[in-house]
Amino acid sequence: MTDLTDAAIGRDDSLDVSLRPLGFNEFIGQEAARANLQVFIEAAKQRKAALDHVLFVGPPGLGKTTLAQILSRELGVGFRATSGPVIAKAGDLAALLTNLEERDVLFIDEIHRLNPAVEEILYPAMEDFQLDLIIGEGPAARSVRIDLAKFTLVGATTRAGLLTTPLRDRFGIPVRLNFYTPEELVKIVERGSRLVGMEMTPDGAMEVARRSRGTPRIAGRLLRRVTDFALVEGAERIDRKVADKALLRLDVDAAGLDQLDRRYLKTIAEFYGGGPVGIETLAAALSEPRDAIEEIVEPYLIQQGFIQRTPRGRMMTALSFQHMGYAVPQGFIG
Ligand code: ADP
Repeated sequence: MTDLTDAAIGRDDSLDVSLRPLGFNEFIGQEAARANLQVFIEAAKQRKAALDHVLFVGPPGLGKTTLAQILSRELGVGFRATSGPVIAKAGDLAALLTNLEERDVLFIDEIHRLNPAVEEILYPAMEDFQLDLIIGEGPAARSVRIDLAKFTLVGATTRAGLLTTPLRDRFGIPVRLNFYTPEELVKIVERGSRLVGMEMTPDGAMEVARRSRGTPRIAGRLLRRVTDFALVEGAERIDRKVADKALLRLDVDAAGLDQLDRRYLKTIAEFYGGGPVGIETLAAALSEPRDAIEEIVEPYLIQQGFIQRTPRGRMMTALSFQHMGYAVPQGFIG
């Protein structure tokens, strides 16, 4: 997978932090989610109670962490962040939970990757704000119950189906984040270019936006690289031509597909006649983990109508044959 359009956090994302919107007023898109959250925040504030637990669901880079931070800021409470795979033992989670103050937000990224023993501890913590811990071992072991501050758990995951049912059911506010439209991404790119101090024409911003796979994190990353090309080439501003040239050199095609997206489509077209082909077979053929294909590559290709997920496997569509420069096979019904 190329670093550039992989929406997962990479080495180069310190700028993510500086471009990160600090309040709802700076957060672009996701209108429905934002409007609902604002109501729930207002209600929690009026009640002087902790906000109900929130679960953000959506592909990487769409703003789950950003929204969690905005929530805590708008609520005027503390924010602590961790991630599922980092909490190895029940004791690690206990330490986090006992340090929370009333109404604080605890953000757990990749919450579907919590170890089951840790997840068990989370249930009573979320429901009754109590922690049941076993202290000691063998005959001397005893169970203690600790009262916790009433906190808000904000979980993030790429797909709701990855969570166990008991965990999913304990979130009162599930929020789905969708890919951004090019128009929304234009605003994000324009804001980014102002922040990095690079002039951009409207068609230059649209070019970067259209090719960002509907994802703000990718838009930010492409903007930075396109800015590098513009600087080195002595361009005064980024217009469509400058953006297009830089993006092609970065291997991002006209539809915003990266090398892995194209390798994925090429494999289905050339080895499997356009499909259907099972996900395991595809993952093996591409030498990429199945998770990465399902969580990063496919959601955007499906949303754009480049592939279909059928009970018999993945299938290309007429659109993806055309995009990849193949003739649509005779009698193809994708
Ligand atoms: P996730 O947690 O879903 O992987 P993040 O919240 O880390 O995504 O967002 C990645 C980056 O994208 C952020 O640092 C921020 O710069 C940018 N971003 C995300 N959503 C928006 C938005 N709605 N408006 C502007 N920038 C955004």
